[in-house]
Amino acid sequence: MIDLHAHTCASDGSDTSLELVEAAATAGVEVLAVTDHDTVDGVAAALEAGPGLGVEVLPGCEITGEVGGRIVHLLAYGEGLLAPGAIDPVAAVRRERAERNQRVGARLEALTGVGYRHALELAGGAALSRAHFARALVQHGAATDVAEAFDRYLSNGRPAYVPAPSLPVDEVLALVHPLGGVVVLAHPGRLASGERERVVAAAVAAGVDGLEVWHPQHDPGAQRHWLATAERHGLLATGGSDYHGRHKPGVRLGGGTDGSVLVPARAVSDLKARLAAAVAS
Ligand code: AMP
Ligand code: MN
Ligand code: MN
Ligand code: MN
Repeated sequence: MIDLHAHTCASDGSDTSLELVEAAATAGVEVLAVTDHDTVDGVAAALEAGPGLGVEVLPGCEITGEVGGRIVHLLAYGEGLLAPGAIDPVAAVRRERAERNQRVGARLEALTGVGYRHALELAGGAALSRAHFARALVQHGAATDVAEAFDRYLSNGRPAYVPAPSLPVDEVLALVHPLGGVVVLAHPGRLASGERERVVAAAVAAGVDGLEVWHPQHDPGAQRHWLATAERHGLLATGGSDYHGRHKPGVRLGGGTDGSVLVPARAVSDLKARLAAAVAS
């Protein structure tokens, strides 16, 4: 089994790097990419744990980017990401994100009495995202469930929404390519349906190297569509479970929610070939 998209508690997953690799081994995952949001801090410990547990760990990072006026997630892969200071511009965006979270918390606190400290307590050390604010609202009775928390407060256009800082896709590509890495547009199916094709076309025109085809939020029809799109443009097709441990219950390493995230071996061989070519050039 292959899983090229997974999170540790270096971003918003619940598992330490060691726990993640252990869970991958238990699930039968042989190739695992660690792709935390805007950081590679969880990668080294996973690389260390991999050989003893029979899991090949690939370094990665899910960068918060922007293309066509929309926030997108860009999966960067490659050893070069680990060089000291290599992704400092991403770290800067991450720091701005911390400030943004305080603004979300202040707005929520004024609206509901549930705010930053509640989300922080619930996150238990993981990097905060709106998902934590949503769960804090539910925990303290300010919303009946996470969906309502987003609908009432946290979604774009709602009163506690503050956009997350991001790097333009051109800057992400200009950062990652010289490091010998590749950039894959994550879960295109999660983009709003009315603008999905436009945003994907903009990402392809900007020069992304691949599309994430296999993902829990892509049904079989979406998988076929994104695979065909990737092939049409000569792009890599990758995939993974987007595992977040306890923070996304029901999502399993390797298979995703219903076992449909079956990433073919070719995704890894193509990715490795592209990485080898990128490093050589
Ligand atoms: P952030 O990066 O802080 O803007 O938060 C993004 C997180 O919120 C991700 O983990 C998403 O899965 C989650 N999220 C965004 N919109 C929704 C929604 N409508 N319902 C549930 N979770 C959502
Ligand atoms: Mn996440
Ligand atoms: Mn994502
Ligand atoms: Mn992810």
